[in-house]
Amino acid sequence: MPRQFSNTNRKDILGMSKKLHFIFSDNRWLVPTNALSVSGLDALSHISLGAFNAQIEDAVHITHSGYGEHVLIDLYKEQVEHADYELLSLREALGVLPPPDFQHLAQAWQYATFLRHHKYCGQCGAQMHKVQWEMAMHCHRCQHRCYPRVSPCIIVAVRRDDKILLAKGVRHQTSGFFSTLAGFVESGETLEHAVHREIKEEVGVEVTNIEYFGSQAWPFPHSIMVGFLADYAGGDLVLDKNEILEADYFDVDNLPNIPPTLSIAGRLIEETVKRIKKS
Ligand SMILES: [Zn+2]
Repeated sequence: MPRQFSNTNRKDILGMSKKLHFIFSDNRWLVPTNALSVSGLDALSHISLGAFNAQIEDAVHITHSGYGEHVLIDLYKEQVEHADYELLSLREALGVLPPPDFQHLAQAWQYATFLRHHKYCGQCGAQMHKVQWEMAMHCHRCQHRCYPRVSPCIIVAVRRDDKILLAKGVRHQTSGFFSTLAGFVESGETLEHAVHREIKEEVGVEVTNIEYFGSQAWPFPHSIMVGFLADYAGGDLVLDKNEILEADYFDVDNLPNIPPTLSIAGRLIEETVKRIKKS
């Protein structure tokens, strides 16, 4: 379980707001070495900016939280080698931070990728400029304005009697997990349409009793996972081999290697198992 951090020390002794510096180098997050597991996001307020002179003037205000002001500094491709700092992938951070803190990191990373991807106007090609009062990029030539993209993805735990449908996706090859089915919502679809279509496409079955469960910001790179529980309604397992390596209905007392409950996939599986055991 991720450790919980206390709310003390989140303001300095004068009552002034602290600054938390979210610094990214390429696709990794810079944190003081070994400090996250001790003091959580508070560790970011102790970063010495002297080592990162070039980018400080481009620092971007993100938001305020109970920790203080969140500030984004993007080093782009610049490599950092400094004994006081280490670079974590976002997936490594997911395993270390409590969920509310991971959401702060997810926001900072999604803003960083947004600013990287919108230097030039997609409509006329002119340089874009950051809007001062909101997170947006604006083109002064054609007035096109862009906001950070959030791509909704549905993720579904399917129950069949006292078993749960789990699949090993092509993308899960390295982790070896069997997980819930997931896919992007397409233009013009409702979330419910996406649930029916994705499950039919990936494993060939129909579902019913679709029930909203919860959601999770998923910054890989800019998704929100919208979780549902559903019941099997019919059809044989026919796998889309481009997406799914293996799929089966598993006995809840004999589950394969599944994702941890840090992810909504893990929590959907946990909830389905709990309901099966209760019934
Ligand atoms: Zn333009």
